[in-house]
Amino acid sequence: MNKRVYNFSAGPSMLPVAVLERAAAEMTNANGTGQSVMEMSHRSKDFKPIIDHAEAMLRELMEIPGNYKVLFLQGGASLQFPMIPLNLAVREDGKKQKVTYVDTGVWASKAAEEASKYAEVRVAASSKDKAYSYIPEAPAPDTEDVYYHITWNNTIVGTKWNKIPNTGSVPLVADISSCILSEPLDVSKFALLYAGAQKNLGPAGVTVVIIREDLIKKVPDWIPTMLRYEIHAKEGSMYNTPPCYGIYIIGLVLDWMKEQGGLAEIERRNREKATLLYDYLDQSKLFRSPIRKEDRSLMNIPFVIGNADLEAQFVKEAAASGLVNLAGHRLVGGMRASIYNAMPKEGVLALIDFMKQFEAAHRS
Ligand SMILES: *Cc1c(COP(=O)(O)O)cnc(C)c1O
Repeated sequence: MNKRVYNFSAGPSMLPVAVLERAAAEMTNANGTGQSVMEMSHRSKDFKPIIDHAEAMLRELMEIPGNYKVLFLQGGASLQFPMIPLNLAVREDGKKQKVTYVDTGVWASKAAEEASKYAEVRVAASSKDKAYSYIPEAPAPDTEDVYYHITWNNTIVGTKWNKIPNTGSVPLVADISSCILSEPLDVSKFALLYAGAQKNLGPAGVTVVIIREDLIKKVPDWIPTMLRYEIHAKEGSMYNTPPCYGIYIIGLVLDWMKEQGGLAEIERRNREKATLLYDYLDQSKLFRSPIRKEDRSLMNIPFVIGNADLEAQFVKEAAASGLVNLAGHRLVGGMRASIYNAMPKEGVLALIDFMKQFEAAHRS
């Protein structure tokens, strides 16, 4: 293959070509330093502006209030599953504290399961009864909850929350790995937001944590230093070597977003792309979306035919046409098109075109 494909992978996923080209141009000599960002000491005067820029751009585009810290960590979103309860719910006397989770899919249930090692987890609602095809009504928090956790966009099944649950004074925590900066989100309504970078922000290896300062507290001594928000916040994400190159690419991706017209324009494009695909699915005689209309994700769009052989053939033929990674998650089957910020409208139109041809050939 000597041209770029439209990559519908759920993550790692497409990055804007302009970002890749800029990174290539700066590969051996970044900002006139005579070195690659990969070669810089993280404590040098050359790297400092790079991490500061990434943070400043994130603050600007997400409108992050001043009383929140932005951390660039490692270990993926999956390491936040235990870090959140370890930092917010563990007490010196060892008594397990109450937390609430809403189970909207595989990642949400993994987060709850991991938390149950350190906290008294109540799974207050679940959409497992209908294969996670909808977002349940958010139950009220328990008055004793130390936090309340949701997964804003459910990458595998393709649902998303449309309303921020009202948890009163209970801190609201959300996994936004697969939807960060896809549309505006009122950060001030959340106590903690986290996202692995490899879906909408940059390469794998960086996790962004946005945490309200009053939640950053000293934790019991047995909790490993590397797992403490307090340490990472105090050290400006430089307690140890941060994922320098990934942070640099995040800065470039955020520059690109701003050049495109900022989050409002990115949201407009995302809605346009998703609407094109859902509208086609809703009138198709071959394909359909299994997801309740009002809960559909803008980023991850699963669809099915209901015939595993035909679905496998679709995925294979699509790949041969330069539309790659359309197989659904191994746990759910079918197909899934992940159309993150970097997926151009042309990619979605090419997919719909291909689906129309496939439908014409296989409609009985
Ligand atoms: C991909 C994903 C994860 C896991 O991310 P890792 O960085 O691989 O640990 C967790 N939550 C959601 C919503 C995801 O999409």
